[in-house]
Amino acid sequence: MEPETIKALIRRTHEVILAHAEELTDLDQAIGDGDHGINMKRGFDAIAAAADAIAELPCGKALEKAGMTLVMSVGGASGPLYGSLLMAMGKAMPEAPDSVGDIAKAFQAGVEAVMKRGKSEGGEKTMLEVLLPVATSLKDAGALDIGVLRKTADAGLASTKDMKATKGRASFLGERSIGHLDPGARSSALLIHAVCDVIEG
Ligand code: ADP
Ligand code: MG
Ligand code: MG
Repeated sequence: MEPETIKALIRRTHEVILAHAEELTDLDQAIGDGDHGINMKRGFDAIAAAADAIAELPCGKALEKAGMTLVMSVGGASGPLYGSLLMAMGKAMPEAPDSVGDIAKAFQAGVEAVMKRGKSEGGEKTMLEVLLPVATSLKDAGALDIGVLRKTADAGLASTKDMKATKGRASFLGERSIGHLDPGARSSALLIHAVCDVIEG
């Protein structure tokens, strides 16, 4: 992957997180401890600060370094979870990915790492409500369909509203977590949209 493409991905994801930090914090205020926007901003500020060094690396190594950066800079649950996603995705990425299938396999490995790290699965009102269906839709796609990816992410996010949280801080609220979107599912949907923006150019 061209260094310019990696830089564009870092720039766009950073931009989108900054633009929505307050919204993420508001969502986390309702069912968590109100720091998700701050956590994501801190993590993506750190990745942006390392953009030049990350962009020089082959795609897989770049993902691993970005993941490490998140783990090191973010205190909340989301840092190690997104960090695991990117690191495992990087490890599974071939040196020169050349098909949707390569990306799909790497993304699937990343999502599995989130489940392992979080001891979580689908249906628990977390970021996995977005990540799992996106992984499935990538796996099933013959060709990359950006519109489908965006819709899949949005539908996954929307599905969290009526769910009862059974993992993470929101699970402390039990039934009272119902009726609110999950902050981590929102940040996952934002990141998927940011990547789609770059692919569409
Ligand atoms: P913290 O909960 O430590 O304050 P954040 O607020 O940054 O961390 O992130 C909260 C988000 O992390 C939740 O909205 C949820 O999507 C995700 N999350 C929390 N625990 C888990 C888990 N065990 N598995 C998957 N995702 C989780
Ligand atoms: Mg929080
Ligand atoms: Mg916290």
